[in-house]
Amino acid sequence: MDLDTIRDVVVARERADLAFVGGSCAVLAGGTFLFSEPQDGLDRLVDITGLGWPALTATAEGLEIAATCTLAEFAGAVPGRELGVEVLRTEWPGTGLFAPACRALVASHKIWRTATVGGNLCLSLPAGAVAAALVALDGVALVWSPDGTDRRIPLREFIVGPGRNVLITGEVLRSITVPTRSLFARTAFRKIALAPLGRSGAVVMGRREVDGRCAFAVTAATSRPVVLDFDATPSDSEVSAAIQAIDPTLWFDDPHGAPDWRCHVSGVLAREVAAQLRAEVGDSQ
Ligand SMILES: Cc1cc2nc3c(=O)[nH]c(=O)nc-3n(C[C@H](O)[C@H](O)[C@H](O)COP(=O)(O)OP(=O)(O)OC[C@H]3O[C@@H](n4cnc5c(N)ncnc54)[C@H](O)[C@@H]3O)c2cc1C
Repeated sequence: MDLDTIRDVVVARERADLAFVGGSCAVLAGGTFLFSEPQDGLDRLVDITGLGWPALTATAEGLEIAATCTLAEFAGAVPGRELGVEVLRTEWPGTGLFAPACRALVASHKIWRTATVGGNLCLSLPAGAVAAALVALDGVALVWSPDGTDRRIPLREFIVGPGRNVLITGEVLRSITVPTRSLFARTAFRKIALAPLGRSGAVVMGRREVDGRCAFAVTAATSRPVVLDFDATPSDSEVSAAIQAIDPTLWFDDPHGAPDWRCHVSGVLAREVAAQLRAEVGDSQ
């Protein structure tokens, strides 16, 4: 839709152009949310897609995903795929969460090609499965502050509630790094929705690292992603206990599912994730 309060759209070419961001001036990434409803409090947008950040970069720490990486680029980041001169390592099964996380969104192909990973994180919706996949993989956000400094934020601390995150005025999300140990992890994904193509009622994603440690991220069912940590692949009873221990006020309530149903199905999905991770350990022994 047209945003008739917007007077100016600045295409950022360098970091200094982000100085405008804050107050009535917002970051524009893919625009799939910004142009979907009136933005009466905004009069200027700074388009960060002109900064030319490479979508995916293999680094010494792991895989760096630019905030402007589109969902299509993210979903296509499968082992063996070329990243410029580099190739995504074939032994990185952790990237297997990327495509199902994108498919969990209620989004058309048009949105896939323009919506960005950073936009999904910064929007911080409970149904933000792309954000949750990066939480499940223990990603770390690189944030550019308006004073020219940078800060790093573990993604499990980034989203604090529906539509709320820890970014402060003027800050811009630059990228997310998935650490190498998560890229080597085995993963599992489960989703349920009240309608076959409807918005997710609950999504559970798990990773099992090479040393056996596991982390599960519960999302869509909760008002923010909730991470459950285990020292080893959990049994069904350990998973059930961890789900029951989630703060009851976090179970989300909207037309896509009642809180008690979301709690119940999250337990079912989490036990399925655990079973798949246990089976994969058995397979590799
Ligand atoms: C039909 C439809 C279905 C959708 N389904 C879902 C869904 O199932 N789940 C879901 O989570 N979302 C959904 N969305 C919302 C949205 O499309 C996605 O969350 C998308 O990933 C947002 O990315 P974007 O690049 O388009 O963000 P934009 O619209 O450009 O920006 C979104 C917000 O994030 C801010 N922002 C963006 N990038 C940055 C950055 N790097 N630093 C700081 N702030 C930034 C913007 O200022 C804005 O406030 C849907 C939207 C539509 C229209």
